[in-house]
Amino acid sequence: MILDGKEIAVKLQNEIRTNVEELKKRLINPALAVVQVGEEKASESYAKNIRKEGENLGIYVEHHKLPTEIPEEEFLYNIKNLNLRKDIHGILIELPLPEHINKSKVIETIAPEKDVDGFHPINFGKLFEGTTPFQPATAQAILTTIKTVVTIEGKYAVVIGRSNIVGKPTAALLLQENATVTICHSKTRNLQEITRLADILVVSVGKAKLIDKSYVKPGAVVIDAGINKIDGKLVGDVDFESVKEVASYITPVPGGIGVLTTLMLFRNTLKAAKLQNKII
Ligand code: NAP
Repeated sequence: MILDGKEIAVKLQNEIRTNVEELKKRLINPALAVVQVGEEKASESYAKNIRKEGENLGIYVEHHKLPTEIPEEEFLYNIKNLNLRKDIHGILIELPLPEHINKSKVIETIAPEKDVDGFHPINFGKLFEGTTPFQPATAQAILTTIKTVVTIEGKYAVVIGRSNIVGKPTAALLLQENATVTICHSKTRNLQEITRLADILVVSVGKAKLIDKSYVKPGAVVIDAGINKIDGKLVGDVDFESVKEVASYITPVPGGIGVLTTLMLFRNTLKAAKLQNKII
């Protein structure tokens, strides 16, 4: 069966809108600042999508577009200003940053209570402790999707990819939900032997169609976070046509996890607005 991200998205959008209305009744206008450096096409379109979804949900998105050559100090100064503003609840820094700007320094400058991406070391540490207020968006999208079709507790979950953005946070959340978790990466030996044992297989590698049905246990739930382009067409890391023959559930690309990721960012922004106003 195909796990349609759009169907899950509709429910989530309704949940978010209800929360936004409740906040607005208390005269709180949830707001997210998106900081973009340079004019790369991917960053432009990411910012545009966030603005559009924000409008759709009633959440204010303030887009800060800074020049590529901005000195690091000045960039950090911009973030510190956003930290101080009471009307901004979440801060999202678009990655990648230009080479002269130190990514870790930037992430550590964001106030942890406004770190809606969940990448600040304090929040990342709390993620593994099981107490972060801001679960990273893609991992949250993956967990939400899995939970619509299967109970995670007791399952054997394999995550391919160990990035801080997707692989590690997804593994942490699966562990928190009482799965038994293995993380695989480019140095993993006998990848296929491991993945063939998985009840839940999450793939976040960035290599088109890396995983075909020979890697998948019959009946497994397969989640594809990969976003790749072949001849201008979006494809995932999973060979969809091959794997759908054996998986019980599979997410498509496009139309799967990607659809939900931005919504999770707004869910985190709402949580930030509530926490900053001592509502939760
Ligand atoms: P990344 O930082 O490049 O990490 C890729 C991971 O894959 C690394 O851990 C790497 O291992 C591992 N890997 C590479 N080749 C492998 C192989 N042959 N076998 C097993 N593991 C292998 O990428 P990322 O940020 O996680 O992104 C991965 C994909 O997800 C990309 O297509 C990206 O566009 C997409 N993505 C989607 C969303 C969404 O919302 N849907 C969000 C973020 C990213 P090493 O650690 O050993 O190098």
